[in-house]
Amino acid sequence: MSRIVLYSTIQMPMFVSTLVNGVVMTTIRTTCQGCGDVELSTEDIALELIGPGDAGSYPFSCPSCMAVQVRPARRRVVSILLATGVNYEIILAPSPITDAEIDQFVEMLDDDDWFSRLTTTS
Ligand SMILES: [Zn+2]
Repeated sequence: MSRIVLYSTIQMPMFVSTLVNGVVMTTIRTTCQGCGDVELSTEDIALELIGPGDAGSYPFSCPSCMAVQVRPARRRVVSILLATGVNYEIILAPSPITDAEIDQFVEMLDDDDWFSRLTTTS
């Protein structure tokens, strides 16, 4: 049995891959706010990707106290989690700019003073 620590920092979860009967099992070490360090399997985590999919969060139920915890996942954590084969869901964030706002902006460009209006924060 060999244990390979893939990545570890204070802010990020620790990924430990263990070879069991020729199959790689990945354990994710993260923290519960109540219990401290906890170990999860890839089945315990469902990654939620937001927008373009390079960042998100991963909610999980703490194996000790059963409280639902949510941890942020930056690009690097997301890529490691996906590589370990966790389930994931892509959540499309609502568009920050509406069609009406774009139309309003286009109309504004027809005026000669569009630039000064754009730079005025009134
Ligand atoms: Zn807990």
